[in-house]
Amino acid sequence: MHSNVQFEIGRLAIGGDAPVVVQSMTNTDTLDVAASVAQCERMIAAGAQMVRLTVPTMREVEPLAQIQQQLRQKGYDTPIVADVHFNPKVAEAVASFVEKVRINPGNYTDKRVFASFTMTDDEYAEAVQRMAERARPLFEICRAHGTALRIGINQGSLCDRILNRYGNTPEAMVQSALEWLDICDKADFHKMVISMKSSNVQTMMEATLRLQEAMQQRGQVYPLHLGVTEAGCGLEGRVKSAAGIGALLLMGVGDTIRVSLTEPPENETPFAHRLVQTVSTLRPEEAVVKGQTLYYSASVADPEQWMISAAAMAGYAYYRYHIKDLVLENDCMTAQQLEDLQATILQACRIRMSKTEFISCPSCGRTQYDIQSVVALVKERFADHPGLKIGVMGCIVNGPGEMADADYGIVGASQGLVCVYKAKEKLTNPIPVPEALDMLETLIAETAVGY
Ligand code: SF4
Repeated sequence: MHSNVQFEIGRLAIGGDAPVVVQSMTNTDTLDVAASVAQCERMIAAGAQMVRLTVPTMREVEPLAQIQQQLRQKGYDTPIVADVHFNPKVAEAVASFVEKVRINPGNYTDKRVFASFTMTDDEYAEAVQRMAERARPLFEICRAHGTALRIGINQGSLCDRILNRYGNTPEAMVQSALEWLDICDKADFHKMVISMKSSNVQTMMEATLRLQEAMQQRGQVYPLHLGVTEAGCGLEGRVKSAAGIGALLLMGVGDTIRVSLTEPPENETPFAHRLVQTVSTLRPEEAVVKGQTLYYSASVADPEQWMISAAAMAGYAYYRYHIKDLVLENDCMTAQQLEDLQATILQACRIRMSKTEFISCPSCGRTQYDIQSVVALVKERFADHPGLKIGVMGCIVNGPGEMADADYGIVGASQGLVCVYKAKEKLTNPIPVPEALDMLETLIAETAVGY
């Protein structure tokens, strides 16, 4: 079922029977007001119905207000969303003027330093209570100004308290969301959207569906924001998003979406609209599963429409029937095109890894190097290592956590430099990109067995 809670974010209705809202996020420095306004305008022209900007510190609060003001003066009424991590004071400061604030329960008051510990039930309850008390002023400001909240759970930034109790699992994500539902309920605050994101298609689907079921049992299904994080770029990024977001939309789940691509943000929304529109023409019954193979057949000449349909169907069948193979038929495509798409979809769902898996974030105002070029270099140089996962992330603040299960990673530091990671371990101080790529090559060659 769809959400049964509907409200307005600025001029946009969200939830209930409202159309799915397509949104995106800037990757400019929020301190650079002119560049951010210009990028917002390009994104809106490309179909962004909501625009999110990062607000890492109090320094970005005033520039964000100016960006919003300049957009309003230019006649744009697109709702502005402030993306806040680690700092409740920033959330409180922006909540009085933006239409929506995204907070991350994993770092609102809790920490993630990968520390192992056990907590008694009383200690655990006290930590949740502290978080509830710290959130109270934010609810009051949101209530006074009609501001909505997004409770944005990311698998890659769950706090140590949750991780130590539930592991790095979909259940942990659900428990983190339910804690905030309880906190909001007790504060009688209901203007909220919830997201359950992961770079793993299966995980984001499972967490979202489990949360939806839990909300149904409680009688209030809040609007859901869908997204596959760190999906990458190009065809792979689009296929991952179509498999995860598309499958959930196919099941009637989801009220707003963001397709995250490591590309200029104005590339995200045309594809996101296409995704929503294409999935609306599909029916789950079209998935023909025999044994553990999905047979999907259609006659579609448009490559993007065909790719979205096949990926959404496969994501759905993978979740519902645990398929292990995929056979595509489309008389408008060549045998090679069908084979390539099958391999890309199976890889996106992590059913069969036939090439290197790349995980890269869309970047945001925290990124201080040219991530799009570096992703292209990494993809070109390390394409043929089936089973190997390489992360390329924009910032050291969220990157290491968000690339969760990558074997190796390049993570942006300051002033164009990057750090090399082996899993969660930082191997270098900030170094230039060419040096990092060489080091990656050596590391991969040393551990090449199995890749
Ligand atoms: S990991 Fe990427 S998208 Fe996430 S905060 Fe850092 S730069 Fe921004």
